[in-house]
Amino acid sequence: MGDVTTHPVTTSDGKKVTVKIDRNLCIGAASCVAVAPKMFALDNEAKAIVLDTAGEESFQAAVDAAKSCPVAAIFIVDEQGNQVYPS
Ligand code: SF4
Repeated sequence: MGDVTTHPVTTSDGKKVTVKIDRNLCIGAASCVAVAPKMFALDNEAKAIVLDTAGEESFQAAVDAAKSCPVAAIFIVDEQGNQVYPS
């Protein structure tokens, strides 16, 4: 599945999730950064990364950020390994 980065995050409301970003899909649109600025940023290749402060964002913010991505490059997986978004 290409160049996918994987980040375990416990959200501010206590949900353990894994946030994945497909760097090949990411076009640097930065909508994820706008929706969840403590979770996502762009690196020097204009690809999204997950920040160390990701846990300061809520579960819903993570899902909303994934939904906002125009190319669906963000995947949210729950503690049981089920993909929450895209569903
Ligand atoms: S919204 Fe999607 S395309 Fe835009 S920076 Fe975030 S992951 Fe990349």
